[in-house]
Amino acid sequence: MAERRKIKEKETKRKKVIVKERAFWSMVLSAIEVYRLETLGLLLGLKGEETFIIEYAIPFQTAHKAKTWVSPNERRASRVKKIVHLLPVDVIGDYHSHTEIGDSKALPHPSGDDIADMEEGRVYIILAVNESHKTVGWHNNTDGSISGTLGDYHIRITAHEYIKQGRHYKNVEIICPAAVGLKGCSLRG
Ligand SMILES: [Zn+2]
Repeated sequence: MAERRKIKEKETKRKKVIVKERAFWSMVLSAIEVYRLETLGLLLGLKGEETFIIEYAIPFQTAHKAKTWVSPNERRASRVKKIVHLLPVDVIGDYHSHTEIGDSKALPHPSGDDIADMEEGRVYIILAVNESHKTVGWHNNTDGSISGTLGDYHIRITAHEYIKQGRHYKNVEIICPAAVGLKGCSLRG
């Protein structure tokens, strides 16, 4: 099955998602802020045929946070969505974090529940946050993700889209010049 998915992925070109600097920082900082709990937010921007552009990432501050799942307060979510209609951008997807639980490392792949919540034509970002004592500069990975360290955390950011046929997901390549090139600075000073 995994092999077949891989072949399928090669057949069609990967879409791209351009993550603007302010969106990168809101996602990363909201994920670090509540490390050990998951964070969730909306992605606002523009959608083209082959490319998504994320202008803003808006964290849900009242998301009900638990170690293994996050659910936004529904009424607040719809209120935010109503206001978003006033902006010259659309809701093009969402993001959430995965964090380390006990000895199990946070993984950057969508869970079964994550896939069940996906809709075609949107972009979904996952930030896998793990504690790290090494410093790693930010870089692109061959699977389209970006990763690096900030302070005591290693963060890998992956983007996905839902493919209705076959009910599976496909990686979307992240382009984030603001992140790539960051030296993986230590916040310890
Ligand atoms: Zn998840």
